[in-house]
Amino acid sequence: MSNTARALMKQLNLAKERKSGPSKRDLQFSVGFLWSVGQKVKQGKVAPSRSEASDDLSAILDSFQISTDGKKAADETIDRLLESGVWEASIPADAAGDLVDVVRLAPDYSDFFDTEPQWSASVVSAVITRFFPGASEGFLGKLALEDYTRGRLYSSMLPKTGDWFFRRKGIVAEYGGNNQHGITRFNDGYVSAISKTSSPYADKVIQSTGWIAYIGDGLYGDQKLVAGNRKMAECQEQRTPVRFWRGDQNRGYRFETWAVIVQRRRQWGIGDDDKPRKEYVWVLAPVPSPDVESWPSPVRDALDDDLAKFYDETRELEGEDVESLGQGELEVGLEEVTKSYAFLSSRAAEAERVRRASSTTRKIQDYFRSPSARKAVMQRSGGRCESPNCIGHSDELAVNGEPVLEVDHVRELAQGGKDLPVNMIALCPNCHALKTRGENRDDLRQELICEAWKKHQEMISW
Ligand SMILES: [Zn+2]
Repeated sequence: MSNTARALMKQLNLAKERKSGPSKRDLQFSVGFLWSVGQKVKQGKVAPSRSEASDDLSAILDSFQISTDGKKAADETIDRLLESGVWEASIPADAAGDLVDVVRLAPDYSDFFDTEPQWSASVVSAVITRFFPGASEGFLGKLALEDYTRGRLYSSMLPKTGDWFFRRKGIVAEYGGNNQHGITRFNDGYVSAISKTSSPYADKVIQSTGWIAYIGDGLYGDQKLVAGNRKMAECQEQRTPVRFWRGDQNRGYRFETWAVIVQRRRQWGIGDDDKPRKEYVWVLAPVPSPDVESWPSPVRDALDDDLAKFYDETRELEGEDVESLGQGELEVGLEEVTKSYAFLSSRAAEAERVRRASSTTRKIQDYFRSPSARKAVMQRSGGRCESPNCIGHSDELAVNGEPVLEVDHVRELAQGGKDLPVNMIALCPNCHALKTRGENRDDLRQELICEAWKKHQEMISW
């Protein structure tokens, strides 16, 4: 990125952190800037006088409700543009020899449009898409930018999808942001989320939808809604798309796709210090461009469904509950187990209600299965296979210290089965294999449905 591009983006306040969108002042400044670009790219147009500029701007600010007093706002904006050096005023003589005070883009910026067409188009597109998303033809027409932006408002933005960098430093040098965090904001104001494919806790693709479960920023300890995570929350609230990058320090980084945040979740995860912690998961839906019109309907449905709701799975297991479910979870007394089982079951039921609340987000919900339900079933099993037909289950523990058991749904989620302990069973690998591919699997499934129900009743009525 040239220094001119960087300076201009800075003047336009594109990357300023905000909780509630751009300020009125920034919008007005941007309109002034865009208007002067329109004048610049208009063929054969003589630079307008200050009073013409003021009339034009005030009409635009009024008709698009960017100010309540267009005339006053226009004059203040012109002053600010001149003070900032984005505009210049000069007093040439006109054809008749009279002196006219003329305002226009300052020479540096004017040259920028001649010598760096790609970057200048990128800056204009960033201003329009960030500050005036869904800007109408009418708006662009008033700014004389209809032809300049036609058909390339989104495609001219840099970086382009597919662009590749060997190092994070290279990305920063070109587009701004920082190379420390997964989530960073570029000079054009758009947030980038960079995946962590080399980490064992890498972001996952949700197979049924192709959407991405992106783990928030923060390596260990509970993640907080600050810094990168705060940026993501803002993008979610304002429905601003983000750039999603995939890669790592060995293979380089590729700008894979634009994406919108369709869900914010919090779940239990394992930090880099191997300790349990609460982490944010941002569900990113890839979209072809930042243009709302280009977003596929499942993405738009999910956004309408979501209303910036917050799915907090960590509420299912809080503080002490988590402690008590550590290594010794299966050795606690029966009384404690049943108390905890009832508690976990009720939490799982609560999560299940949220899960079934809407159809468009169901696939996502199924992906984030209730950790409570699984924990509850592990407790209920006492570390033993729950199949009544089990011919033997090894006492050997898995490397993580847990019994070698798989918690399975007796009626599949895809077939309408619920993610609740009553529909789940802990099976040893042998019984699990018989359930999925044994020749008597249909009979076994019926038995397991009964067994899960019976064990569940025993636990809650104890
Ligand atoms: Zn078994």
